[in-house]
Amino acid sequence: MTSLESGRQPTISSDPFALARGLRTPVWVYDTDCCRIAYANEAACKIWSADDEASLKSRDLSQGMSTTVAKRLKQYQSDFIERNAEFCEFWTLYPNGIPITVNVVYTGFIMPDGRMAMMCEVTGEAKETPETLRSTEALLHTDVLIALYTIEGRPLYKNPAARNALWGIDVGFDEIFVIPGVFDEMRASWQRRDDCHCVTKIKTTSGERWFDLSTKRCLDAVTGDQALLVTAFDVSELKTTRDKARYLAARDQLTGCFNRSYMQQRLDEISSNVDPSRSRYALLFLDIDKFKKVNDTFGHEIGDAILRTFAERVRKHIRETDVFARMGGDEFVLLMKEPPSSDDLHHHLDKIRGEVTKPIDCGSIQLSVTTSIGVAVFDNRAGTDWATTMKQADLALYHSKRAGRDRYTVYDDSIGAEAIERSWLEANVKRAIQDDAFTLFYQPRIDLATNTVVAAEALLRWFHPERGDIPPGKFIPVCEEIGVIDQIGMLVIKQACQQMNIWRRDGFEIDLSVNVSPKQFQHEDFASLFEKAAEIADFPLSSLELEITETSLVGDNAEVSRRLLRINELGFRLALDDFGTGYSNLAHISRFPVDCIKLDRSFVQQLPSSGPLLSLILALAKQIGAITVAEGVETAEQLAWLREHDCDQVQGFLFSQAVPADDLMSTCYDICAQRRSVA
Ligand code: GH3
Ligand code: MG
Repeated sequence: MTSLESGRQPTISSDPFALARGLRTPVWVYDTDCCRIAYANEAACKIWSADDEASLKSRDLSQGMSTTVAKRLKQYQSDFIERNAEFCEFWTLYPNGIPITVNVVYTGFIMPDGRMAMMCEVTGEAKETPETLRSTEALLHTDVLIALYTIEGRPLYKNPAARNALWGIDVGFDEIFVIPGVFDEMRASWQRRDDCHCVTKIKTTSGERWFDLSTKRCLDAVTGDQALLVTAFDVSELKTTRDKARYLAARDQLTGCFNRSYMQQRLDEISSNVDPSRSRYALLFLDIDKFKKVNDTFGHEIGDAILRTFAERVRKHIRETDVFARMGGDEFVLLMKEPPSSDDLHHHLDKIRGEVTKPIDCGSIQLSVTTSIGVAVFDNRAGTDWATTMKQADLALYHSKRAGRDRYTVYDDSIGAEAIERSWLEANVKRAIQDDAFTLFYQPRIDLATNTVVAAEALLRWFHPERGDIPPGKFIPVCEEIGVIDQIGMLVIKQACQQMNIWRRDGFEIDLSVNVSPKQFQHEDFASLFEKAAEIADFPLSSLELEITETSLVGDNAEVSRRLLRINELGFRLALDDFGTGYSNLAHISRFPVDCIKLDRSFVQQLPSSGPLLSLILALAKQIGAITVAEGVETAEQLAWLREHDCDQVQGFLFSQAVPADDLMSTCYDICAQRRSVA
C-alpha cells in the first residue's frame, strides 16, 4: 500500500472521478499497479477509440508496453507519493495501431483502496514536427542517463532513466559521485570550458555502479544561462569483465603474483615518466637457492607448492606501494617505491629471509628453502635507467649466490668492478688454456722426523703478459663456473706426470701432490682422467697424491666411496686438503681411503690460539692412520709447536715458496742442508 505524504490533496468522493466526467478534455486514471485504466471520461474513451468506459477498462495495457515505459510509470508513481510531483509530457497512444501524440499532464490520484494511481489529462494534441516528436520519445525511452544541470550542478532536467537511477529529480550533480575528487576535477574542466569524459563510480538507486560519463557545456533553452549537459551509461558489467581480463593478463597463474609482463610494463611506465612523482625505487631480485634439487628430489608438485608458499610469505612483507612479481621459474622481483633507509632496508630484507626459511609443510614432509637476494636502487631524479638497474640487481644476486647463497647483497661499485673482472677472467682464461699459459710451480714438503724434503705440492700458476701473476684463488672458481675445470685438471695432471718422468730420468726422486677441484671430483668421468695419467706415468703411482677438499666428500656417500676406491685401486694416494674448514668430521672421513690430512693454513697461522683444535685433529688423524701435513708454516714458533705435537710434515714460506720445476731440485738440497745445520 502506498500513501500520499505531503502536498496538494487529490479529490476524494464516493465517485472519485465524478468531477472529471463532465470535462470535455480527455481525462483518465491509470492504475500503475494493474496496468489498466481505472476511470475514463467520454472524451478519453474517444481518444482511446473505445466504445465505452467499461470496454476501455477491460484493456490490459501491459501488453506491448516496453520495459522502459513500465519503469518510467513506476518512477512517476513514487514521485507522486514522495514529492506530490506533476509532470507534463508528450504521450503517443496507439488506439487503433495509428499513433496519436498528445500533450498530457500527470498528477497523483488516490484510488478508493488507498493506492497511488496516475491521473492523465490531455491538454492538447501535439503539433510538433515528426523529428521533435521522435526525439522526445527517444529521450523518454532511452536507458542512457541524460540530465541538464546548472553550472553549479543544480538539476534542471533529468530524463526518466536519469530520474530513475539518480534518486529523482532533486539530487545535485555533486552528490552522485563515489570516488572523492572526481567532481572537483570535472568542475575544473568546465571552468576551463573543456568537455569531460570519464569512467567513474556513481551512487545509483541500484547501488554503486560504474558509468561512462560525459559532460558538455551548453545553454539552458529556457533561461539562456550556461548549463551542463550530462550523459551517462552503465558500464559496470563491461568494466568487471575487462577488469577480470586485465587481472588475469597481469597475473602469474601458479602464485597469483604479478607476472613478468606486468612488471615490465610498470618499469616502462616509471622510466617513461608516466609516474610524475619521480621517485626512488629499490629493485630486489629474489631467487630460491638450489630449487632444482627440490624438484629433482621431491617432484614438481612439491616444487610448485613451495613456489606458492614462498610467494605468499614474501607478500606478507610488502607495502601497499610495492609491486611483487614472479618473473619465471624460481625468480621473483620486488619493486619498492621510496624504499626505507639503508638500515631499515636491511632489517626488512632480514624479515623476508626469516619468513621464507620457515619450514613448509608438504604433506608428509617438512621442507625449508633459502633465498638469495640482489638489490639495486633506481633513482629517477638521478637519471638512472632500468636496464642498468636490472643488471645491477642481477649482479648483486649473482654475488649473493657466489658468496654462499642465503643472503642479500646491495649493489655497489665494488660489485660492478668484480663483474668486470670476472668477464675479463672468463674471456682470458679460455685464451690462456689455448695458449698453454698455465704452468705448475712446486712447493717442497718437509718430513719433520728426517728433516728432508719428501714431496712437493704442484701449484698452478698463470702468468699474464700484462697483468702478471694471477692467483689460482681468482681463476679456479671462474674455470669451475664456465665449465673448463676439466680441461685445467687434465692439463695439471699431464704436466705433473711429465715433470715426474723428467725428474726420475734425472735421478731426482720426489713424491708429488696435485689439487683436484670439487667440481672435477663430481664429474662422472673423474676416474678416467687418472686412468689416462696412469698410462703416461713412468713412476710408481703411489708417488702421486691427489688432494681433494672436504666438500668433495659431502653428498652421496656410496658414489664418493666408489670414486675414491677407484683412485686407490689405480695406486694413487689420497690427501684431504684444507682440513678443518669444512663440515666433515673424522668419523665421516674414516670411511674413505684417506692417506694424508693437510691442516688448513688458517689454523697454523692462528697458533698458539688454535692449538687445542689442531692437537685434536692431529690425534684423530693418527687414529685413522693418515699422515698429517701442516700448510702455510711461516715462523719458527709455528714449526716448533707442530714438531712438539707430532705433526708429520710441513710446508710453507719458512722453507720455500712454490718454485719453477727447474729450480725444485736445488731448492730441495738447500732446504735439506739448512735443516741439517739447524738440527
Ligand atoms: P640456484 O641456487 O643457483 O638458484 O640454483 P637453482 O637450482 O635454484 O637453479 P635455478 O634458479 O637456475 O633453477 C630454477 C629451477 O626452477 C629450474 C626448474 O627446474 C625450476 N622451475 C622452473 N619453473 C618451475 C615451475 O613452474 N614449477 C616448478 N616446480 N619448478 C620450476
Ligand atoms: Mg634458484
